[in-house]
Amino acid sequence: MHTLLNASEMLANLADWYQVDPADEPDYPELATLQPVVCQALCISRPEGILLIDAPAHDDNPGGATPIPGYAPPPPLEEQLQAAGIPPESISHLVITHAHWDHFNGLTRQVDGEDQPIYPNAVHYLGRGDWEMIQPALADPQSLQSRTLGAVERAGLLQLVDGEMEILPGIRILPAPGESPGHQIVRIEEADGVLYHVGDLYHHRLEVARPEWACHWAEATAHNASRAAFLAAALPENASILASHIAGFGRIRSTGDGMKWEAVS
Ligand SMILES: [Zn+2]
Repeated sequence: MHTLLNASEMLANLADWYQVDPADEPDYPELATLQPVVCQALCISRPEGILLIDAPAHDDNPGGATPIPGYAPPPPLEEQLQAAGIPPESISHLVITHAHWDHFNGLTRQVDGEDQPIYPNAVHYLGRGDWEMIQPALADPQSLQSRTLGAVERAGLLQLVDGEMEILPGIRILPAPGESPGHQIVRIEEADGVLYHVGDLYHHRLEVARPEWACHWAEATAHNASRAAFLAAALPENASILASHIAGFGRIRSTGDGMKWEAVS
């Protein structure tokens, strides 16, 4: 069983993200205006354990994005989980797709001035490349990274991931670098097919239609290779896909001369 959770929404300037001029791309009016993007997490319940993928929290000042004027955020992720009958203490496995703020800023809460893990019984899986990437930030005890991922590490809950890893029966972490050095995705075998949580391998459906559009912060060669490896696996499987910032589940379809994102209800 899986539970999809939305922690926040913000506005993205895709033309800036992809460094393209909207005037050159009249077929894609989404480039000319700010586009709403969600911040989603996914929870998978299995007899052997309960997995949470990413722990985003709403932030009034989203770095790299624009706040939605007058936006009222939903309850924090841990409250949404509790309401769905999943106490945060019951989470046994927690995959952080990558160490960008919007995927880990909901890992801890302040208790008596201390940053405490919200998921105290979960092994937290982070790609080693991202742990190395955030070392300069971890040197500052007040940084977001120190107060979240650092606190998780100090609590003995962090497990660094070097490659493919099966964490529960039929659930595997797969490295997919590019968005960040340690970016990782999750392949989930479900009763009715395969589901992938692809993190930020795609941020918007435009990136499926125009794969040459990648965010300017990504390392392009690795990112393209990760997308190619993912598509080679997921298209023959007719897999369902969840991307952190594309609302709801989808599939990627071949259109003959390219590909498109198709929402799945
Ligand atoms: Zn993101």
